[in-house]
Amino acid sequence: MGKTASELAAFVGQHECVCIINNHISVDEVEKFLHPDGEKSEEQYPPELVLFIHDICKSHRVHPVAILLRLAQYPDALKYKKKVLYVVDRVFERQLRCKESNEVMSLKLWIILHVLREAIKFIEEKNEKDPATVVTVYCKFLLQMEPDQQVRPNLETLLRNAVRSFPYHHSLLFETLVKAIAKVPFMSRPTAYEFIVQSLFGHRILACSKFCATCGTPNADKKCPNCKFPYCSRDCQKFDWVFHKKCCDSIKGWNVQQEEQVMSIEDLQSQLGQINV
Ligand SMILES: [Zn+2]
Ligand SMILES: [Zn+2]
Repeated sequence: MGKTASELAAFVGQHECVCIINNHISVDEVEKFLHPDGEKSEEQYPPELVLFIHDICKSHRVHPVAILLRLAQYPDALKYKKKVLYVVDRVFERQLRCKESNEVMSLKLWIILHVLREAIKFIEEKNEKDPATVVTVYCKFLLQMEPDQQVRPNLETLLRNAVRSFPYHHSLLFETLVKAIAKVPFMSRPTAYEFIVQSLFGHRILACSKFCATCGTPNADKKCPNCKFPYCSRDCQKFDWVFHKKCCDSIKGWNVQQEEQVMSIEDLQSQLGQINV
């Protein structure tokens, strides 16, 4: 069929499967970048840092808030922020140059790298003493949303910039993604995140899965009782509440409008069916 196993998995919508197939990153590889001479290396880093970087690189969670929530679990990583960026950059470079270079994996790693770079820039500008607090502040900055908006502007800007700056311009995946995003005016749906997820995990994922409105986790099975905005957990719902409470009613209005549109298309189809008969 001329397709790789991962492309095939993406085609049938098995996004978890795609990640496992594409997941060539080993703990040893991260360890080598951190400690090139093993125990004799000049600088020694804690094992938690090795695991943190490995976890971030192998994860299929590319939503900026999900990446930041992982960082919030191990804020000490920020003590080694330059090293974290260096290692993720090396893993990305290696992926680009390796023989079975994989566009999906490269794009995923690039987004993770871009998000980490921007988060660290933000954290440095804030000059805050407690790193965990400033990670949360950045999450809230990304989640900001006003009542008349369907898209989170800061999150959208971050992800659009991430895609635009992807350095692997020969990639067909990149070209398709850039074209698709460029067609949608800023602040309209589908969002850059929705396009990215579709590029990484296949078209069917958008149709089959609801993504947590806070952290982008697929199969979010909780929802706001009023407007049906999806969430993966009570924590994510609570985290977003400060913004969501202002937008809840307008989102509900849009959802009703969408349902009415779907109904009218169905009506139209049935009318067309009757004409054909
Ligand atoms: Zn969530
Ligand atoms: Zn709501």
